[in-house]
Amino acid sequence: MEFTTSHNRLLRVIIILCICSSLTLANGPGHRSSVIERKIDSLLSMMTLEEKVGQLVQVSGNFNDGSGRKTLTPEHIEMIRQGRVGSFLNVFGATATREIQTIAIEESRLKIPLLFGFDVIHGYLTTFPIPLAEASTWDPALIEKAERVAAVEATAAGIHWTFAPMVDIARDPRWGRIAEGAGEDPYLGSCVAAARVRGFQGEDLAAESSLMACAKHFAGYGGAEGGRDYNTADISERTLREVYLPPFRAAVDAGAGTLMSSFNEISGIPSTANVKLITNTLRGEWGFDGFVVSDWNSVGELINHGVATDPAEAAVLGLKAGVDMDMESYCYQETLATVVHDGRVSESELNEAVRRILQAKFRLGLFDNPYKNCDVKREQQDILTAEHRRMAREVAQHSIVLLKNEGHVLPLRKDLKSVAVIGPLADDAATPLGPWKQNGRPEDVVSVLSGIKAKLSDGTSVFHAEGCEVEGSSKPAIEEAAEIAKKVDAVIVVVGETADMSGEGASRSSLNLPGDQEELVKAMLAIGKPLVVVLMNGRPLAIPWIAANVPAIVETWFLGVECGNAVADVLFGDVNPSGKLPVTFPRAVGQLPVYYNHKNTGRPADDHQRNTSRYIDLPSTPLYPFGYGLSYTSISYSQFQLGSTTMEPGDSVVVSVVVKNTGNCQGEEVVQLYIRDEVGSVTRPVKELKAFQRISLAPGQSRQVSFTLTPEHLKFYDRSMRWSVEPGKFKVYVGPNSAEGLEGEFTYSSS
Ligand code: BGC
Repeated sequence: MEFTTSHNRLLRVIIILCICSSLTLANGPGHRSSVIERKIDSLLSMMTLEEKVGQLVQVSGNFNDGSGRKTLTPEHIEMIRQGRVGSFLNVFGATATREIQTIAIEESRLKIPLLFGFDVIHGYLTTFPIPLAEASTWDPALIEKAERVAAVEATAAGIHWTFAPMVDIARDPRWGRIAEGAGEDPYLGSCVAAARVRGFQGEDLAAESSLMACAKHFAGYGGAEGGRDYNTADISERTLREVYLPPFRAAVDAGAGTLMSSFNEISGIPSTANVKLITNTLRGEWGFDGFVVSDWNSVGELINHGVATDPAEAAVLGLKAGVDMDMESYCYQETLATVVHDGRVSESELNEAVRRILQAKFRLGLFDNPYKNCDVKREQQDILTAEHRRMAREVAQHSIVLLKNEGHVLPLRKDLKSVAVIGPLADDAATPLGPWKQNGRPEDVVSVLSGIKAKLSDGTSVFHAEGCEVEGSSKPAIEEAAEIAKKVDAVIVVVGETADMSGEGASRSSLNLPGDQEELVKAMLAIGKPLVVVLMNGRPLAIPWIAANVPAIVETWFLGVECGNAVADVLFGDVNPSGKLPVTFPRAVGQLPVYYNHKNTGRPADDHQRNTSRYIDLPSTPLYPFGYGLSYTSISYSQFQLGSTTMEPGDSVVVSVVVKNTGNCQGEEVVQLYIRDEVGSVTRPVKELKAFQRISLAPGQSRQVSFTLTPEHLKFYDRSMRWSVEPGKFKVYVGPNSAEGLEGEFTYSSS
């Protein structure tokens, strides 16, 4: 930076005083430090209108210069010099980010550090199971550890900020983005959301390995009609508050530094222009003091939604709603200065958005050390370490859900003479990376076939054939696979979806196994050998034939780099599966939406009564209920007890059961507690998850598991939309999933 006039010399002294402080600052959201605020006031007083707008602009730097290195265009570099950009996404690597940050620090007038964001969705280079799989662990502490690994790796590669966790509740598995979230339940979703925020951010945002979180997509994105991505959502205020918003609230309470506004509209108002949602609820009611970034071009898309005529109007709507940073639509960049000049947006509104972004940069410690994440040594040492792979394997093991195990087909014996590993996904090292694989590399992935080979000794011959493609028709290949299967002691068939069949822009109208894969499974079953189907997919599938006919079914989702090892650990009994479904499996796509916490209706489903709420051509139950998952051991529930059959304000009721391992191997169980408010001023769901505990039991061991219910667990939005508990009877269920368990009842009275 060249300073030629005395004015500029003075400016430099002020800037240095402003930004180079070693004072300890309060970094957690909710702790607006007065020291930081004074620095921001002083910076704001020096910034031109264009520089202020610049802080609100986020641009994707994902430009490949041909050498395989991500870099920036000359236009990007000029934007940095002029202070016309505050953040980049899709720029990573300790060297690249240092080079780019150096331009901001050495060549821009005010030396405001850039913020580098990236979608670290399920790991950076050590790819973990997809979030839906991680949610199947029902183990927030484990999920927190997984995100810590992701944060250590991403921050070693220059990244400050991840666009995660995705906390959208999804009740329609046609929606491909169900893979990115924690499933259908607001309570489980909230526990997972908070765990992921804590894991990413660590104790202190300024720490070297803290990755700022972004809870997304605010809000109701998962409520897309028909499960079609980007589609309209029409959600009542009650459902929004009781179902879709709780995980966001949990993320905010856990200290999430940022939120992302969603693409969709809710009841006519696009979220990116929703004052009530962002300014009133998020900031006003919940006290969120981080910043809000738009989704990719969602400010510009206000024009397509038909609520803005042009980019300027879109920018006004976005900023006034409370969207501080514009990701990639350029509406803020191109029009905000003009709309401030003509008075459509006041400079103080603009300042508020700039302030929030600068606060995040201060909290991250970037003014003290703009290069804190640009450490080549750490990048070489801290990524894809043996310990990170070990963690990925542990999480993958816990993510696996055993759906069926008739006749104890599983676990398979390690001393089999021969085994066939069949299927288009059996030796596929790309698919386990799932959607949002980002930098994940197939060469780092252990395929199911490789995992099984590594598990077994030379005494077992392992044969492999693809049998068919995931999509497409290939009869001769099925016959060839059948010939192999005839020769072996057991057959493992790995089928499902490819990674790009779920995730963003990947809604499906069918939930069947694609292509000829079911034909392949039928051909394998016909051979009559012990058969295990291993599913790999990003959403619940409708597989009624497989569920009815195949003796052993294992849901593995997309498990990341340690996929094959974790699958082999489970198939051959080194690990007893303990995952539970975070989402309901339907019998058919026509049964959608099907979720456990539905309303009773005036004519509850009765499969023997025509005029009840059901389909005449399907049982009304799902294929597999929410919370379901088997173990190699058997678990019994008994001695349900309520500490009291009444509850009053300020009271609590202890609910306990005895859970026993009645089988002959060590097992883990997720004990789930649901309630039902029998009569309310408004209708209530037939069941609501309120608590769960994961326990470990040795063979023959029993444990008493207790939960404490308080009036807080009984609250809901009453007829006047007040968050309150109403007197009356409550049912309590404790069991292994949302459809089974022991039950009791107590009465809540207000005096
Ligand atoms: C997605 C977001 C993502 C963003 C940046 C958008 O298309 O909806 O979830 O964070 O792109 O990659």
